[in-house]
Amino acid sequence: MDVETIYKEAGALLEGHFILSSGNHSNRYLQSAKVLEDPRRAEKLATELAKQIDQSGLEVDTVCAPALGGVLAGYELARALGVRSIFVERKGGEMELRRGFEVLPGEKVLICEDIITTGGSAMEAAQVIKSLGGEVVGFAALANRGFCRRVGTEGEPRPECKLPSDKPFFALADFEFAMYSPEECPMCKKGSTAIKPGSRGN
Ligand code: ZN
Repeated sequence: MDVETIYKEAGALLEGHFILSSGNHSNRYLQSAKVLEDPRRAEKLATELAKQIDQSGLEVDTVCAPALGGVLAGYELARALGVRSIFVERKGGEMELRRGFEVLPGEKVLICEDIITTGGSAMEAAQVIKSLGGEVVGFAALANRGFCRRVGTEGEPRPECKLPSDKPFFALADFEFAMYSPEECPMCKKGSTAIKPGSRGN
């Protein structure tokens, strides 16, 4: 599956001159919600991700996503895996399981995001599941920003990656973009002006 082409066709992978939430500049930007705008496309991506997880032999009872970004990806992945879908959400800064959702003792939970940057929100969701007695068996995302190392690829994760090294992380593709400080940005040097797309790209 050519995930990059799917993202481009969906308008989820922008090319230009962008200011990232970090303040750095890049010639590419991932607007990950756009790729899920078409439910059939979302289903196709989640089915491919589910195939990887099934092939690994990982047992999953439930998929849990951190709201808001992960909810659609998590729901589609749960559908493809044939398991339950729940989500945690932020209430006064803290992630919580609300809305009558429950986690059973020892329940095998896979944390799912639309995109993993450093995995901060995914780890917060994992803490909630553990605090309720569930077992976090792994992590999944449609796209990986290249800080963490996904199953099937070589090399060490970057120090920024917050996901645990003893749990598998499944993703469809790596989206590693060149980033520049504004002073060193080659596009700025050519006289181009950077724009700020959407909101935070995590
Ligand atoms: Zn620039």
